[in-house]
Amino acid sequence: RGALGDWLDERFPPHHPRPARSRLLVLAGPTAVGKGTVAARIRETHPEIHLSVSATTRAPRPGEVDGVHYYFVDDAEFDRLIADEQLLEYAVVHNKHRYGTPRGPVDAALAEGRTVLLEIDLQGARQVRAAEPSASLVFLLPPSWDELVQRLVGRGTEDAEERTRRLRTARVELAAQNEFDYLVVNADVATAAEEVVELATDSARRSAP
Ligand code: 5GP
Repeated sequence: RGALGDWLDERFPPHHPRPARSRLLVLAGPTAVGKGTVAARIRETHPEIHLSVSATTRAPRPGEVDGVHYYFVDDAEFDRLIADEQLLEYAVVHNKHRYGTPRGPVDAALAEGRTVLLEIDLQGARQVRAAEPSASLVFLLPPSWDELVQRLVGRGTEDAEERTRRLRTARVELAAQNEFDYLVVNADVATAAEEVVELATDSARRSAP
């Protein structure tokens, strides 16, 4: 068992009862639609919402902080998290690195009655749906296909070949939007973030006794 696994177990002991008012919200959507930006905005403006910190095998980018943006782990540690069933879901994203949601912190926040937001990819969203049927799935849409292409080119973090690959993935991912409970168009980050928060609040209210 690795360091992150031990720490998760100690900090977030298993078996939490779920209060009726808590809510698990999944934010997914195609590449470059701005999921990360919308999630970061919610983190800033709604500290009462628990934004899940994923474990990943990719290297930190400049400015990213371990334990804040991700838990950065090596392959062996990620294997252990899987073996010890400490991940609520996990997936290989963009054919490269593994990403997964640590289960303990999510359960602990839900047990406190907090809303929990997962910003994950489509494969992960499907796993959460299967594992937690009461979760609400939100799909973030670009205002248009052209706008999505513009955003991917504009952020300049991928080369041409990688962009082509991601856009192919995005087409497939966009086709999955009807599997989701809610669609939110990300024309403006602040507005989209508020819409996601309202969905979380509304669905929590509906599920209350
Ligand atoms: P990035 O490497 O740019 O931070 O993230 C790449 C992709 O990984 C994003 O689409 C993000 O939604 C997805 N991702 C981040 N964390 C998780 C996770 O815990 N599980 C899954 N399935 N996808 C994740």
